[in-house]
Amino acid sequence: MEVAAGGGLVEATTSALRSRIASGQWPVGTRIPTEPELCELLGVGRSTVREAVRSLTTLGLLEPLTARGTFVRATTPAPTILVDALSAYAPAELVGLRRAIDVEAAQTAAANWTADDLRRMEAVLQEETDRLRAGGERRADGTHCARFHGAVVGASGNRLLIDLDAGLSAGMLASGLDARIASGLDVAVCLDEHDRILMAIRGRDVGAAAHWMAVHVDAALRGLHHQPIVTDLTALVEGRREGRGRARRGIA
Ligand SMILES: [Zn+2]
Repeated sequence: MEVAAGGGLVEATTSALRSRIASGQWPVGTRIPTEPELCELLGVGRSTVREAVRSLTTLGLLEPLTARGTFVRATTPAPTILVDALSAYAPAELVGLRRAIDVEAAQTAAANWTADDLRRMEAVLQEETDRLRAGGERRADGTHCARFHGAVVGASGNRLLIDLDAGLSAGMLASGLDARIASGLDVAVCLDEHDRILMAIRGRDVGAAAHWMAVHVDAALRGLHHQPIVTDLTALVEGRREGRGRARRGIA
């Protein structure tokens, strides 16, 4: 293997493995070649391969499983790095990012969805509706929300948004923030809001998709502290309209 001048053998090996993962030559979920095969493929020794695999494992791209081999878990280190970085922020800051991602995803999904994306979003919504109605649950663990929002983010087609969402979701799950939000959710209301969001996305109505997602996320986040954490934009816009109406009518 060619090693760039000044670059170490481990760095070059890491980069060779990483480019195969990033290009999709080794897709997420598949097993990469064994250690001896990698030595042969890249023309380096076992300790170099081991060091490179360890470094990509730390970044969350690979996961070695005892007796089963090493598997590809992600195409970029963004989600793993984000989970670590997010621990420095307050819950209100995390939910602000959650809201930004969800609203952006909804409007981009409305503009960009493909037939496959639409089928996936519809299937997830139907499965979760059937599951929750069959169980007669009024409150759920939030899985129905996570799956539907994940499908919407996927339909946005924005890889950075998808990675940010993966990192944020993992961070919120690890911190228990997800469970706190889920405990305040009314499942029936939630499913109804998901329906409205999907209807707007299906109709390629970018404005309505963003609006209904914002209404939905704000309602869920309000339950977190029993008071608005993020500004309720719907109320703000209504308030401004009301204010303008009053001004036009000459009311103080
Ligand atoms: Zn939801």
